[in-house]
Amino acid sequence: MLTGRMMDFPLTLTHFLDRARTFFGDAEIVSRQPDKSLHRSTYADFSRRTRQLAEALTRLGVKPGERVASLCWNHTRHLELYFAVPSMGAVLHTLNLRLHPGDLAYIARHAEDRVIVVDRSLLPLLEKFIGEVPGVRHVIVVPDDGPVPEGRLDYERLLAAEPGAFVFPPLDERSAAMLCYTSGTTGNPKGVLFSHRSIVLHTLAECMADTFGIGEADAVLPVVPMFHAAAWGMPFAALFTGAKIVLPGPHLDPASLLDLMAGERVTLAAGVPTLWLGILALLDQAPTRWDLTSVRGMLIGGSAAPQAMIEGFELRHGLRVTHAWGMTELQPVGSIARPRPRHQGLGPSERFALRATQGYALPFVELRHVSDTGEVLPRDGTTMGELEARGPWVASSYFGDEGADRFTADGWFKTGDVVTLDAEGFVRITDRSKDVIKSGGEWISSVALENALMAHPAVLEAAVFAGRDAKWDERPLAAVVFKPGQVATPEELAAHLSGHFAKWWLPDDYLFLAQIPRTSTGKFLKTKLREEHGDHLLKKARGER
Ligand code: AMP
Repeated sequence: MLTGRMMDFPLTLTHFLDRARTFFGDAEIVSRQPDKSLHRSTYADFSRRTRQLAEALTRLGVKPGERVASLCWNHTRHLELYFAVPSMGAVLHTLNLRLHPGDLAYIARHAEDRVIVVDRSLLPLLEKFIGEVPGVRHVIVVPDDGPVPEGRLDYERLLAAEPGAFVFPPLDERSAAMLCYTSGTTGNPKGVLFSHRSIVLHTLAECMADTFGIGEADAVLPVVPMFHAAAWGMPFAALFTGAKIVLPGPHLDPASLLDLMAGERVTLAAGVPTLWLGILALLDQAPTRWDLTSVRGMLIGGSAAPQAMIEGFELRHGLRVTHAWGMTELQPVGSIARPRPRHQGLGPSERFALRATQGYALPFVELRHVSDTGEVLPRDGTTMGELEARGPWVASSYFGDEGADRFTADGWFKTGDVVTLDAEGFVRITDRSKDVIKSGGEWISSVALENALMAHPAVLEAAVFAGRDAKWDERPLAAVVFKPGQVATPEELAAHLSGHFAKWWLPDDYLFLAQIPRTSTGKFLKTKLREEHGDHLLKKARGER
């Protein structure tokens, strides 16, 4: 091999900090506090405080590779942790504040967290599990909603005691930077350990014009929590480009978010479909209340964005949704549903349908789908199989020994998503493999049925899941939540679906619920639906309804 004569310059987050300080000192960071007031600072403040934080953590004895955990909302100090901890050579482990204390204890022990930084407002949660995590040496409290209780380490006091002269050490780009756990709807959550290099490459791909096109002129609002899949890398992309960063704190209700989007002239906001469904419903009620002319895009992912929602935003409010697919194991973005120039000729409904798919892979992400026996399937848009991925920001194994069966011998990660792939490489998720409905040996796509149900004018949300059936083994059941003041009969819903699906795909029954159970990251919790209503058809057949 003739080796190229170019520098082996490390791809590390330290460079992001250097850029932020050198070029973007006056860029703004706006962070909403628990009392709803806005805290304003600049990248210059951020640079200084990040160095002070690294100094303080070093003084507390944090060593390279050790885990510093955060239990925080999206706010400025969390952003400081995002950069200070990895850049000093340690690993930031983001704890999901929506998890049960028992799960948090398991995860914090598994991760071997040595320090936990916690919002004062979340101290009651921490206290429920910290006793079960003996390895934690220090708890640092962020005074988000008031002064830090006596006897606790105070984040602000720790920083104030440091001059801010910390020099970040040179790092190997392959060193670990961040540890995020999967939501673990089945089995224990598993740790995904990002490296500096993987974060840098993911950031570059996210910022590309044909991905999210993030740049200095943007004002970015990651509504997606910083404790879930690194807020889809938005904090990294923003800091890398010098964009204004707007952080919502604990206020995630639609009106608060719309106030923030309008007030801070947000250009790009990112979150899960549930959140946007709430926002769309509010905008439909009060279409002129907020000036959203600054918004150029809303990034939606984490679960399938219903086509009716994408259409509703664009046709009724002139707001453009970009749908993306990903998972913690991909840090998380893997594909984006952006129509390409070659789709110019498509009619409006075909374009919307394309934008409701999971899209095609980002550069350097490779996708394929395989049968139960591991055979690579044709890209014909109809054959369903499990999606597999590989690339520089795809996990190569989990942190710890779990989940080895998710990695194939030939170097692919098994996503657990059941999909079709078409000739252009567009992915359409039909199910999570654990949620598939197998009726008489054939697969039925719950996601396609849900999307169609959510296009019915009376339906706010719908989740389709497998009900046990004496004859067919499993049959689809639909759990439906109506919009306030609206209803529809099972017959009307069936009639609405019948134009789009084969008869044997239609749900055997409709359950009208007040809400659909969700995971800690906002996905439909179908295991719970199955637990509670899985025998519905058997009971109905026995006349036990
Ligand atoms: P998590 O690791 O918690 O982000 O969960 C990843 C899973 O969320 C994926 O494997 C998918 O099942 C689901 N998911 C993420 N984005 C989408 C999307 N755009 N459409 C459908 N499902 C999605």
